[in-house]
Amino acid sequence: MGRMSLRYDLHSHSIASDGTLSPVELVDAAHAASVDVLALTDHDTLDGLDAAARRASALGLQLVSGVEISVSWGAQTIHVLGLGVDAQCPALQQGLAGLREFRAWRAEEIGRRLARAGIGGCYDGARTLAKGNIVGRTHFAQHLVAAGHARSVREVFKRFLVNRKPGYVAGEWAALDEVLDWIQQAGGMAVIAHPARYHMTATKLRRLLGEFRDAGGLGMEVVSGSHTPDNVRHMSALCRREQLLASCGSDYHGPENPWIRLGELPDLPSGCLPVWESESWSVQ
Ligand code: AMP
Ligand code: MN
Ligand code: MN
Ligand code: MN
Repeated sequence: MGRMSLRYDLHSHSIASDGTLSPVELVDAAHAASVDVLALTDHDTLDGLDAAARRASALGLQLVSGVEISVSWGAQTIHVLGLGVDAQCPALQQGLAGLREFRAWRAEEIGRRLARAGIGGCYDGARTLAKGNIVGRTHFAQHLVAAGHARSVREVFKRFLVNRKPGYVAGEWAALDEVLDWIQQAGGMAVIAHPARYHMTATKLRRLLGEFRDAGGLGMEVVSGSHTPDNVRHMSALCRREQLLASCGSDYHGPENPWIRLGELPDLPSGCLPVWESESWSVQ
């Protein structure tokens, strides 16, 4: 007998951005973990979606075409997921291409700044790890660990890659309303990723969610691989208060982070309306 309800994981990464598995390996891992519905949501790129969709259809798994878009909201960077987007949409493609241009420049700038701080070779090291895909901060972190400058990726972020540290470059991403426009033009559903990770005051977070909803945003991640049980309770209350739909995703980046597993997520708290039960869930 099958399970009563489907297993959803609506946030994951492949080598097309800063994950370590290929899109095919990622779908295989999701299938092995009994995930029924997987969203591939790479940072600012749609590159992995074709290969993932082909593999998913061969395995009978439902693949949601997704993307995790970098947004500058005031001085902060926030992440907005587009779920069920049409990867052929020109507005979305052009918007993401602009963000990748910034990423390409930023990667070189991070390399220059680290070199100035006495650590050379980081740009080349990060580029090698990205294997021809866009170079993100995670690749710098992985390189710095491999080169012996820190013990963990988390430590690299803290010591080198965040505000006031030697390799920090401020994000200059897209504006919230622009990004919501791209997602809407692509027929997707906009969802705020891991809202508890922004370390905003409750007031500021409510302002973000309000602006997001007023600009056409529909959902927020209540359950996330990076949310504690306490975060989940808090986000579930906010989700209901702001009348947003609730999403859940592991934010899986690969087997190197064994504390995050595909599809292994707590149920959405009762009282939250899951994104997949809304009328806007038009994912085939
Ligand atoms: P980027 O979009 O290139 O600026 O990199 C952001 C990514 O870095 C996130 O999506 C995470 O995968 C990773 N990341 C951010 N902060 C941390 C941290 N403190 N420890 C480990 N990984 C992090
Ligand atoms: Mn990432
Ligand atoms: Mn994110
Ligand atoms: Mn993510």
